[in-house]
Amino acid sequence: MRIQILSDELASQIAAGEVVERPASVVKELLENSLDANASHIKIAIKTAGKELIEVVDNGIGISSDQLELSLTRHATSKLSKSEDLTMISTLGFRGEALASIASVSKFMISSRDSDSDLGRRLLVDGGKLDSPQAIAAAVGTTVRVEELFYNVPARKKFLKKDTTEKRHIDALVTRYALAYPEVRFQLEQDGRATLNTSGNGDRREVLAAMYNPDIARQMLEVNAEYPDINIKGYISPTSLSRSNRKAMTFFANGRWVQDAALAKAVTQAYHTLLMVGRYPITILFVELSPEKVDVNVHPTKSEVRFEDQNVIFTSVQRAVRGALLAYSPVPTMNTPINWSTTSQFSSNWNKSKGITAGGIGKRNGEAPSEISASENPETIVHREGFPESGVPLLRLIGQVSLAFLVAEGPDGLYLIDQHAAHERILFERIMAQRDTQMPSQALLEPVTIELTSSEVELLDEQIPLLETLGFRIESFGPTTYKIRGMPSTLIDLNPQTAVRVVIEDFEEDETPLQDEIEAKIIARVCKRAAVKAGQVLSNEEQKALLQDLEACQAPRTCPHGRPTMVHLSLDLLERQFGRKGAR
Ligand code: ADP
Ligand code: MG
Repeated sequence: MRIQILSDELASQIAAGEVVERPASVVKELLENSLDANASHIKIAIKTAGKELIEVVDNGIGISSDQLELSLTRHATSKLSKSEDLTMISTLGFRGEALASIASVSKFMISSRDSDSDLGRRLLVDGGKLDSPQAIAAAVGTTVRVEELFYNVPARKKFLKKDTTEKRHIDALVTRYALAYPEVRFQLEQDGRATLNTSGNGDRREVLAAMYNPDIARQMLEVNAEYPDINIKGYISPTSLSRSNRKAMTFFANGRWVQDAALAKAVTQAYHTLLMVGRYPITILFVELSPEKVDVNVHPTKSEVRFEDQNVIFTSVQRAVRGALLAYSPVPTMNTPINWSTTSQFSSNWNKSKGITAGGIGKRNGEAPSEISASENPETIVHREGFPESGVPLLRLIGQVSLAFLVAEGPDGLYLIDQHAAHERILFERIMAQRDTQMPSQALLEPVTIELTSSEVELLDEQIPLLETLGFRIESFGPTTYKIRGMPSTLIDLNPQTAVRVVIEDFEEDETPLQDEIEAKIIARVCKRAAVKAGQVLSNEEQKALLQDLEACQAPRTCPHGRPTMVHLSLDLLERQFGRKGAR
């Protein structure tokens, strides 16, 4: 084969592979262009998760008719002219490849008019081939329509996630930009349904409410720290509000959404000891520094940056966040009444040695400390032989210890039972067993309304059929409002809002597990909330019932999250510990 230069069309398609990964990346590039054009109003319309249509309409400065074709050429940009410009980029775009890339992998239309012209101009492009330029009447600003994304790149199309996931990415992306540019009015519509509508009045809390919910927006603490070379602004969650993953930590550097592990680490450190292990805050932080101190030309998607002085950024973010936290909540509070440390120390080794898994219910997220001190080593106190492979022996209750554990005697020694973990297991099996039939539902005396964000709506809508079979009665009551009319009888003591929220809370964005796994996971979460807590006094009757119910479980030895429900001290071990048996 002879060496030849790639055709422009092919080169654009290759470049598109880097810039345009999924529909949300198209939305991102178009939004950035509108923001660079100083638009004060941006309308985004999406059909079928962006696979059918992405349309962005802005009222920015527009493109003059004689330059419109040029805007679609690769490496054509109005934002850079000489290489020194590259060291101090203050626009979101600068690579001049987004429009060319997008146009090469879609059926593309751009129309624009600038304020010097009376007429606008429109171009159609089909898979990179230009078609029929036309003068049109239009308002000042730019409209881009991207139809049938990846129609000519089947490999890419195949890797798109299911619609709800892609939609969620778009919602999350637009919301982030709305938050970063509160003075711009954003309107997002997915399949004819308005999923975000900000006023552009500059109020970030309004956007926060749309992003999470009004309650969270109210609770978020404001960060506003100015240091000599850098400003840190934004919102962070109080310690009472946390998530089980890092995904709710959002960062902007000079108005650009960035993913940066070091920033996340700085924030996590600022929360150190204020949050439980494995919990993460919700943060939206805007780092502002002079453009020459940050290199944005690291990756085609421009979502990675390099800071000239990493340490200054790190300590500034940490100080700003810590300062805000301490100013608002001087007394550190744990956000969960349950402290797993006693049992979780066992669980890592326990699981390894016994091969116990969470029964296919999600993964353990590695929050259990891995070192085990000598005195707590399960090898010395947990005698694992003689432990029935499934089921537990008949137990005689002795009593409750420190309002968290039950002590019982079995045929072969002593058993310590974690009351919360045990109850979780019991509820879990009860619900799973009844899952195929209709679970008994109890109507609420007073229906409870719950207010959700649009992405939460998507998640809830997906799970409503499951919730129905579990005994929840939930109906839609306006675009983002639901009414809870009934609850599973087993869970009637639970706060209805909390119960419904656990279904959507912390749902991993890209999770596409089997429906069975989702169900088990949701049920496990609901059980966790419903189970008796450590610190709760149980009557003698309740303690007995708990033991009996646990004995009846199929997998009584672990809670649905894989932690042990009980620890066994065998007679043999006790005898040896007291020097009655074996060599000293
Ligand atoms: P870049 O943003 O990196 O310059 P793009 O391919 O995204 O590259 O856009 C090319 C050029 O087209 C931009 O530099 C800008 O001049 C013009 N342009 C694109 N979108 C818009 C818009 N919405 N409003 C005004 N001008 C635009
Ligand atoms: Mg651009």
